[in-house]
Amino acid sequence: MGHIQKGVRVFGEKQKNRIGIYVHIPFCVKKCTYCDFVSIPSLAPPGRRYTSCLLRELETTIDREGIDPSERTIESIYIGGGTPSLIEPDIIEWLIDGIMACFRGSAIPEITLEANPEGLTPERLRAYREAGINRLSIGIQSLDDRLLERLGRIHSSRKAVNAFFMARDSGFDNIGIDLIYGIPGQGVASWRDTLLRTIGLKPEHLSIYALTVEEGTHLWRDIISGRLKRTTEQREIEMYRLGVGLLKDAGYIHYEVSNLSLPGFECRHNLRYWLRKDYIGLGCGAHSFLSFPEWGRRWWNRKEPEEYMRALEGSLSPVDGYERLSRRQAVDETLLLGLRLLNRGIGIKDFSDRFGLDPRDAFAYRTGKEMGLVEERDERVVLTERGILLCDEIVCLNP
Ligand code: SF4
Repeated sequence: MGHIQKGVRVFGEKQKNRIGIYVHIPFCVKKCTYCDFVSIPSLAPPGRRYTSCLLRELETTIDREGIDPSERTIESIYIGGGTPSLIEPDIIEWLIDGIMACFRGSAIPEITLEANPEGLTPERLRAYREAGINRLSIGIQSLDDRLLERLGRIHSSRKAVNAFFMARDSGFDNIGIDLIYGIPGQGVASWRDTLLRTIGLKPEHLSIYALTVEEGTHLWRDIISGRLKRTTEQREIEMYRLGVGLLKDAGYIHYEVSNLSLPGFECRHNLRYWLRKDYIGLGCGAHSFLSFPEWGRRWWNRKEPEEYMRALEGSLSPVDGYERLSRRQAVDETLLLGLRLLNRGIGIKDFSDRFGLDPRDAFAYRTGKEMGLVEERDERVVLTERGILLCDEIVCLNP
């Protein structure tokens, strides 16, 4: 890892000078039954070719968007997918070094790699650490083998638990685990068992997501044909409450609607999304956001990996869409994303300074308050326990 000095953290830098980098790796061994992400099945992904396109994209983006890299420090790199752990560690190292070399500073950011339990070995994990990865996000999803099979996951619960211990033994001291609830056929008892066994592992971070049945997926076809039954909304709410309750009892802080962490282990990269801080997304299907000029801009890339690579190899733009945000869009996004951060919520002064508008006048705050969904706490607008379940709907109500 030539360009970054290990063990130094990016504190004390002015937030506006920071940036986050998301890298999308679109390859998986096989498609899961519920998957609607940008991913294609590939046993031997073209890691080198794809990475050279990623680095080329970063250079052209910096140029095109007028970003001054000498003024920017990277706060986080998040390598997501897809299955990034399919990419060899030496290529991941090349990628990280290439990104770091583009920007100012020698401090070490949070660098996350999403990993599938299948295929992880102690050697591979150690090599990822050596490459600069200091946070691992393991997609375990469930510890019930019957449900893992239903989701089309390629790992077993035993593999998942082993992968976690291997990661710990390899020196990872910041590990996140993703779990899914509301899987067809999943009872509350099975969910509780998965939660308790996961808590027993003591990961630093946990994301709990309700299964979304996306149209066109294998799972969706099984549901519309009647082979599987969708979980009721009532059952999902029960599972969500059970998950949050058990995790809070175990010392986790519920800092975002679907995310909990031990103190000090919030995902700094994802916080950038919720706080609408600048990030560049590299790779097919990746989205980017810059908060300037005016109300900000975003763009997103072509989804198809081959098309994305051909564009960059032919010195064409991989961008598929570009949008300058209006003030109203910026207001709505700030509310929608900010309220998801349960303890931070919306700072009344910060919001008013930015938009010249009190956040309580920007959405149906008074109605929400009467219904017990939002409240004011320490000069901030925050969701109540009841409001958490209706977060998106609250913001969509006009004042
Ligand atoms: S591992 Fe993730 S990205 Fe890959 S197919 Fe499964 S759900 Fe989709």
